[in-house]
Amino acid sequence: MKGVIEHYKQYLPVTDKTPVISLNEGNTPLIRARYIESLVGGDVEVYLKYEGLNPTGSFKDRGMTLALSKAVEAGSKAVICASTGNTSASAAAYAARAKIKCIVLIPEGGIALGKLAQALIHGAEVLAVKGNFDDCLNLVKEITRKHPITLVNSLNPDRIEGQKTGAFEICDSLGGAPDYHAIPVGNAGNIVAYWKGYKEYKEIGKIDSLPKMIGFQAEGAAPIVKGHIVKNPRTIATAIKIGNPASWKKAEVARDESGGLIEAVTDAEILNAYKLLASKEGIFVEPASAASVAGVLKKAKEGYFRSEKRKATEGSPERSRRAKSEKIRIACILTGHGLKDPDRAIASIKKPKVVAAKLNAVLKEIGF
Ligand SMILES: *Cc1c(COP(=O)(O)O)cnc(C)c1O
Repeated sequence: MKGVIEHYKQYLPVTDKTPVISLNEGNTPLIRARYIESLVGGDVEVYLKYEGLNPTGSFKDRGMTLALSKAVEAGSKAVICASTGNTSASAAAYAARAKIKCIVLIPEGGIALGKLAQALIHGAEVLAVKGNFDDCLNLVKEITRKHPITLVNSLNPDRIEGQKTGAFEICDSLGGAPDYHAIPVGNAGNIVAYWKGYKEYKEIGKIDSLPKMIGFQAEGAAPIVKGHIVKNPRTIATAIKIGNPASWKKAEVARDESGGLIEAVTDAEILNAYKLLASKEGIFVEPASAASVAGVLKKAKEGYFRSEKRKATEGSPERSRRAKSEKIRIACILTGHGLKDPDRAIASIKKPKVVAAKLNAVLKEIGF
């Protein structure tokens, strides 16, 4: 498969002259999740969009291929980003491929080891800032205002353009839009990108309905839910540990236009979904990614999908026909790979037992 620029060229701000910097990102699997369906109950189908299978292990690659291609097209010699980890891993890889400089500001001690390793091995100049993500983002905004370096955080509109291809893929694969789109919310670029993608697909007649966008922040880092900036965000889900999201207002627009919601899930709920995905569905994600599934399970317990279905049936004749004849479809975005943060996995489960190198000792342990 080609990368997302080649595949969705006609919907993206590129021309034949744009140099395409690609690692064949995108085309990630949309996996049916029968066990999670059994927990949600009722007439639902749950699909998991496994974005951890992108080249650098997160959805950031969809936006970064376009951001770097456009940067090179514009003659840029360097890119810079603030990052909770995955943006820096992705920017570093695509900048290496483009042969331009990449500068990364990360919160000191605040990103998973795998992501730091990626940024470093791809040759980025990494600075660990004594502050949090929001401090890092303020710094790079200031730097790019005054110096000729391209900002590749999701404030860069090319990032959003590239990331909207995730919505195209879901619709192409389902043959229509899902009814609900569940997604973790950190800096809030991705929920905005998906909503843009769905709306554009509807405008050109590729789909005839739009999903409700249901976003989930971590309880200790939930500024949109609380309605105010969180000075010291706290959560084990480092990728969404953000107290002042850059796309705050646009995320609220996506929520409200779609008739969806943005709510919080606790770290305990996130870890529960994280372990469940690994042990019952065979899918290893990083903790932040599990927020979408944690949110769906929480809303299912509240009866949200049942009562929403009743409402849908009372609506337009077209919707009601769909609602009666088909199951409710929920797409959950699994934003990043579990191997990014192996420490978290090891801390969440029992360590392996140590046994003697003797057949009897091993057999005894495994119950034979
Ligand atoms: C970046 C990231 C998020 C948050 O996405 P936003 O666009 O900042 O809301 C969630 N999960 C993972 C794994 C990420 O890398």
